[in-house]
Amino acid sequence: MKNIQSAVHRGSKGVLIVEDSSFLSFILQVAVREHLKIEPVMCTGLREAEEVLETNAHTFFAALLDLHLPDAPNGEVVDLVVGYEIPSVVFTATLSDKLRERMWSKKIVDYVLKENQENVVQVMETIKRLQKNMGMKVLVADDSFTCRKIVKNLLEVWNFTVLEAVDGQDALAILKQEPDVCMLITDYNMPRLNGVDLVKQIRRSHSKARLPIIGLSGVDNATTSAYFLKAGANDYLHKPFITEELYCRVRHNIEIAEHIKTIRDMAERDFLTGLYNRRYFFAMADKMLKQTRRDNRGLVIAMMDIDYFKKCNDQFGHDAGDEVIRFVGQSILSCVRESDLVARFGGEEYCIACAGMDGEGARKVFEKIRSSIEGAVINFDNHNIKVTVSIGVCPSLTGSLEEMITCADKMLYDAKKQGRNQVRVFA
Ligand code: GH3
Ligand code: MG
Ligand code: MG
Repeated sequence: MKNIQSAVHRGSKGVLIVEDSSFLSFILQVAVREHLKIEPVMCTGLREAEEVLETNAHTFFAALLDLHLPDAPNGEVVDLVVGYEIPSVVFTATLSDKLRERMWSKKIVDYVLKENQENVVQVMETIKRLQKNMGMKVLVADDSFTCRKIVKNLLEVWNFTVLEAVDGQDALAILKQEPDVCMLITDYNMPRLNGVDLVKQIRRSHSKARLPIIGLSGVDNATTSAYFLKAGANDYLHKPFITEELYCRVRHNIEIAEHIKTIRDMAERDFLTGLYNRRYFFAMADKMLKQTRRDNRGLVIAMMDIDYFKKCNDQFGHDAGDEVIRFVGQSILSCVRESDLVARFGGEEYCIACAGMDGEGARKVFEKIRSSIEGAVINFDNHNIKVTVSIGVCPSLTGSLEEMITCADKMLYDAKKQGRNQVRVFA
């Protein structure tokens, strides 16, 4: 019972494992600890599971169940746990078509064969997926109430939050209201706006990686899948489909989108601080510059550098220096608007672009950043570290991005020369 208490206390949900073999039980317990960094609740049979669930069913986001237990030889434990609406992965030593069908009829998440270590890893990946899916929204667009409910119920087994749209127009309205929807599953034939036209409209603003879409249709026409894919859908599924295929396609498409996001972050961002990198800064700041000029608004470019940073590294060590670089990055972010562009240019140097700002506004904002860093104490490894920064600012309605950066750099050099810990604005 202690395990359950600690999981609830931390406010995070846990994993229930029901397995009678002490060897496998041990392997799974260690794997959950290692892969998910949580302590699973272990039961050896149906009776024990009943006892735990009676009072603590709400504390689990996933269960891993042995199909054959001494006190439940026919998968009774699956009925029990699924009855509490806990997403359940079934571990089985044998598999036949009949057994497969029987398990899917029980509304399980997935089944995995007890073969080797690879299968344990596979189970852990699935449980991690269930953990990530909590809070992820999937939109299901279908004019048929029954079809919508079938897909919704199936997705809820995988911990997704499911939103429903009754036609294409309704789907567009919901996407506007709920910008964090991470996947759309859409029918083809719907009143007002059909699935293919819906996909075309969405693709004007959302890339395949930003919002994966799976087309769905019962139309006995081989061209429907081609229409969907050509319009920009990521995948297609013919109705009626089998549960296993829906799950595989949903998971596959969501994971591809996540991988693309990771790759994009790696290309655009600085690893240490999470701020944008120099390359991304140049590409985006140039767009910002062109847009602000069109709108006849000002753009400000600022260069910033930590003072005597070499000493900080020498005195407290390189890891402490890294922490200072991260801290200064966060301090900048907390003082500028979300639409402003903050990048680490390398070492202890940052570059910031702010749209719609003039020289006076810039002086206030960058003075605030300077003084907040001067006033802060960074705790690292029992050291209390204090640093200051120098900032050079170029506010301008003319000149190229490169010219503005050179100007800001020159002002930064002036700030250093004048004694550091100050803001110099080009006038
Ligand atoms: P100034 O006030 O003139 O800017 O002096 P400074 O010591 O800050 O400038 P200098 O250019 O002499 O030294 C910068 C130091 O930053 C040298 C380099 O080892 C260190 N540095 C560069 N990148 C990193 C990093 O990623 N992590 C850490 N910890 N140190 C870094
Ligand atoms: Mg329809
Ligand atoms: Mg420096």
